[in-house]
Amino acid sequence: MTRIPHFDKISEKKERCFDMKAVIDAEMCIGCGLCAQVAPEVYEMQDDKAVVIGDEISEDKAEDAKSGADQCPVNAIVIS
Ligand code: SF4
Repeated sequence: MTRIPHFDKISEKKERCFDMKAVIDAEMCIGCGLCAQVAPEVYEMQDDKAVVIGDEISEDKAEDAKSGADQCPVNAIVIS
């Protein structure tokens, strides 16, 4: 198979461009733990508050991240 370097670079760049982030407003979080139950690979509980695991959310965890945010009863999670 003939490889086309230009397309390989585009594909590589696309993978690197997936930079979803989740931010939890610690003041708003009531510590219910729902986000961590729904998406344990994205959110975890620390001292009765939820935190995001890692700096960025990989593409394979994007749906879980959104589901966790959707479940938050006080809308403390912002996905960008
Ligand atoms: S679902 Fe919302 S309120 Fe509950 S722990 Fe997660 S961020 Fe906090």
